[in-house]
Amino acid sequence: MAQNSMEAVVYEKQEQVNGNHLALIWMQNPPVNALSKAVRVGLINAITQALADESVKAIVISSKLSLFSGGADISEFASGDYEPPLPTVLDLIENANKPIIAVLSGPAFGGGLEVALACHYRVTFAANKVGLPEVNLGILPGAGGTQRLPRLAGVAQALDMIVTGKPVAAKKLTGVFDLIVAEPAQLLNEAMAFCHKLVEQGAAIKRTCDITIDSASAPAELFKQYRQGIAKQMRGFFAPERCIQAVEAAVSLPFVQGLQREGELFQECMQSKQARAQQHFFFAERAASHVKDYDKTTPVRDIQKVGIIGAGTMGGGIAMNFANAGIPVTLLELKQEALDKGLALIRRNYESSAKKGKLTSAEVEERMALLQGTTAYADLADVDLVIEAVFEKMAVKHEVFKALDKICKPGAILASNTSTLDLNEIAAATKRPQDVIGMHFFSPANVMKLLEVVKGEHSSPEVIKTVMQLAKKINKVAVLVGVCFGFVGNRMIESYGREANRMMLEGLKPEKLDQVIYDFGMPMGPFTMGDMAGQDIGYFVRQSRQEFIQHDPSYCILADKLVEQGRVGLKAGKGVYLYAEGSRTPIPDPKVLELAKQEAQRLGISQRHISDQEMLERIMFPLINEGALILEEGIAAKSSDIDVIYVYGYGFPVYRGGPMQYADEIGLKVVYYAMCKYRDELGEYGGHWFQPAPLLKKLAEQGKRFADL
Ligand code: NAD
Repeated sequence: MAQNSMEAVVYEKQEQVNGNHLALIWMQNPPVNALSKAVRVGLINAITQALADESVKAIVISSKLSLFSGGADISEFASGDYEPPLPTVLDLIENANKPIIAVLSGPAFGGGLEVALACHYRVTFAANKVGLPEVNLGILPGAGGTQRLPRLAGVAQALDMIVTGKPVAAKKLTGVFDLIVAEPAQLLNEAMAFCHKLVEQGAAIKRTCDITIDSASAPAELFKQYRQGIAKQMRGFFAPERCIQAVEAAVSLPFVQGLQREGELFQECMQSKQARAQQHFFFAERAASHVKDYDKTTPVRDIQKVGIIGAGTMGGGIAMNFANAGIPVTLLELKQEALDKGLALIRRNYESSAKKGKLTSAEVEERMALLQGTTAYADLADVDLVIEAVFEKMAVKHEVFKALDKICKPGAILASNTSTLDLNEIAAATKRPQDVIGMHFFSPANVMKLLEVVKGEHSSPEVIKTVMQLAKKINKVAVLVGVCFGFVGNRMIESYGREANRMMLEGLKPEKLDQVIYDFGMPMGPFTMGDMAGQDIGYFVRQSRQEFIQHDPSYCILADKLVEQGRVGLKAGKGVYLYAEGSRTPIPDPKVLELAKQEAQRLGISQRHISDQEMLERIMFPLINEGALILEEGIAAKSSDIDVIYVYGYGFPVYRGGPMQYADEIGLKVVYYAMCKYRDELGEYGGHWFQPAPLLKKLAEQGKRFADL
C-alpha cells in the first residue's frame, strides 16, 4: 500500500501536437488501488494542479495497476477517518471546467466505479468488469453511485447492479461508456486519440449530475416488481431494500437532494448490525487462508493428477470439482456396476447444467474426458493426490489406506473425506502418516463452497499448504481444523438436532421450531433439515457413539423411534413430517406429536409451552458453546474460522456473520447467563448439556468477545 499521496497518485503531462497538454493522473496504490486517504489526497492535489495549469486542456484519470480501482479501503471503516471524503473528490471532478476522462484499464468496483461515474467521459475495453458490490458488505454505494449510475445506465440496469452487487462486463452495460475498445492492448492508444479529439473539437463537459431521469421510464410498478423478484433471494437482508430506496430517490428527487437521501440511507446501513456482520465475514473469509502451520518458505507439491476412491454421493461431486478446474481424475470403485452408476450420475449433473445454459455440450464432453474410471488400484500409481470417499467405517478406510500406501508413489498426498472418524487412526494404516490429511467436503460436493482441511497429528506443513492452496484452484474456501469427532462443523451441529428433539418431547411442535429457525435466517429448520438429509444418517452416527450419549435416555429418542418405524425422511415420504408423492413440502403429522407425548410420559418429562426465544436460545447457544470449547482445544485456530465454516457449510445467514460473530454481537454475557439458566432449570438434562465452556465464562466475565482472542 502506498504510504503517501505522492506515491499513491502520479501526475504527468503529455504534450499534444498543437502545444496543448493532457494531464495524466495515475492511481498506483497496490495491491488493488483502494481509495485510501493517500489516494484521495493525491487525486485532489493532482486535479487541482491540472486545473490551475493553463496549458492543460483535458485530464485523464487512470491506473498503473491491473485494476482501475477495487473501491473503498475497508480497513479505514474501523478507524472512522474518512477525511477528505470521497464525495469531495468526486465533486471536484464533476464540477471541473476542463473535461475529465476516466480510462478504465482494469476492473472498477465500488468507489472505483463511482470515481469513473463522476468523470465527464469514460473509456474502457469490452471484457472489462465493473460493479458496485457494497451491498455484500451490508451497505450501499455512498459516493453518488446510486444517483449517478441510474442517470447513465438507466434505472433497471442500475437497480440490478446496485442491489445484487454483481459485476458486469463493460460490453453488456449500456449508457455508461463513451468508447469501448475491443482489446485491452489497444486501450491506451485509442483512449489518447479520443482525448485529443475531445480537445480539438472543444467538446462539452458532460456532467452526470445534469442528466434528468425520465420518471416515465421508472414507474412505481418497476420498483414493485423488482422487490417481488428478489424477495426470496434477499430474505432477511437489510441493505438491499435501502439500495432500492436510494435508486427511487434518484428518480424522484433532484440530484443534490438525491445525494443527501443516499447519504442518510448509507448511514442507516453503516450503523446496522448486518453491516458489522458482513464486514466481519469479508475479513473472516480472507483470514481463513492465513494459518500458522506453514510459511512462505514451505514448499508446495505439484498436483497434476488426482485419484478418488468411491464414486458415490461424495466421490462423484468431488471428482466434478477437479474436472471443472481442468485437473484429470481417476475414479476407483471395486465393482464396475458402481463405477458406471457413479460416472452416469456425473454426466447427468453436467447435462442438467448444460440444459440450464451454464455449460456448452462441448464443455460437458471436455469435463467427462477428464474423468477416467477404474477398478484397479494399480491405475493410481502415478497420481499426486488421492481422496478417499468410501463408506464411513474404520475397517473399510483402513483397507483402502493400506492399499494406497502400497501403490501410490512417494510424496503422493493421501486424503480422507471422512465426516466423523479419527483421521490419526486412518493415517496409522499407512507408513507415511505425514502425507495423510482430511479433506472434508460438504454435500453436494460440487456445489458447497466449504472445505474443512483436517490436519492430523503427523500431517506435514508441506501437505497442509498444498491442500489449502489447491482448495482455491477448485473454487473452495478452505478452513484448517484439527482432529476431533465431527471436526468443527458437524461437532457443533450435534447440539442442534439434540435440542430440537428434546424440545419436541417437552411439548414443541416441529413446524413451530422450524419456522423460528427459518426466520432467524437459516435455509431451513432442524426437522426439515433432518428429513431432507435422511434421519437414518444421524441414527447410524448415534449407534456408533452410544458411550457418549447413553447417560441421557431422552437423547434423540424420537428420531431413533421414527427411524425404527421406517420414517427416515423425505426419501421415504415420511420422517418427522409427511410428504405427498413427489413433493418436498413438509406436512405436520399428529402421530409424531402423539409419539412425543407417550415418550415424554415414559421418561417423566412434563410438556409445556416453549417460547420463541427459548427455542432460538436452546438451538443456537449450545452450538456457540461448543464453538468456545473448540477454540479452547485449538481444533479451530480462530473464531472467525468457525464463522466461515457455518456460513459456507451450513447456510448460516451471512448477515449475522456466523455463530461466533452473532454471539459477539448479542454479547457473550447473554449467551453465558442463558446457558447457566438452562443448566439450572432443565434438571438432570440441563446438567448434562448446558455446562458453559470455561472460555465462554471467562470472556463473559471480562466483558470480551470471541473476536478479541
Ligand atoms: P456413498 O455410500 O454414497 O458412497 C460410497 C461409495 O464408496 C459407494 O459407491 C461404494 O461402492 C464405494 N466403496 C465402498 N467401499 C469401497 C472400497 N473399499 N473401495 C472403493 N469403493 C468403495 O457414501 P457418501 O455419502 O459418498 O460418503 C462417503 C464418505 O464421505 C464417507 O466417509 C462420509 O462420511 C463422507 N461424507 C459424506 C457426506 C454426505 O453428506 N454424504 C458429507 C461429507 C463427508
